[in-house]
Amino acid sequence: MGDGHNFKQLKDRILALSLATDWEVARKEWSLVGIHEADEPETCICGHFPIVEVCEIYNRVTKRRTEVGNQCVKRFLGLRSDLVFTAIKRIRKDITKSLNADAISFFHERGQLNDWEYTFSQDTMAKRNLSAAQLQKRRAINEKILAAIGRRGFQGPE
Ligand SMILES: [Zn+2]
Repeated sequence: MGDGHNFKQLKDRILALSLATDWEVARKEWSLVGIHEADEPETCICGHFPIVEVCEIYNRVTKRRTEVGNQCVKRFLGLRSDLVFTAIKRIRKDITKSLNADAISFFHERGQLNDWEYTFSQDTMAKRNLSAAQLQKRRAINEKILAAIGRRGFQGPE
């Protein structure tokens, strides 16, 4: 890869924390459970430095946790966690903007958005002219998400 992302090192570290010994089986034991922005740049378990957008992954079988960067989440779990961070940056910059599809799905799956908020976010995602009431609701949702991300990161249910 040549950019500090050592896939073999990632595999070795993940396998050491997994029950399965076959990579294709072992990777299925893992899911993304939390994301946060690091105060200080961290090093991904693949050896890549720096990572600031940190993803916490959890192994449902061994109950082990570890942290990786967006690149590894994408490569290893096939998830675009970077797009969730994109949405967070956008609403932090402008609280009246909407979350994107990836963020709506991510936060709903992890119980951060209830079913009503999930449906509302989806229905109003592409709308620019919201009613005053809708805008107020969107802001409340965004503030809740930003508070959840916070400094300590958001920890969803396992
Ligand atoms: Zn990595």
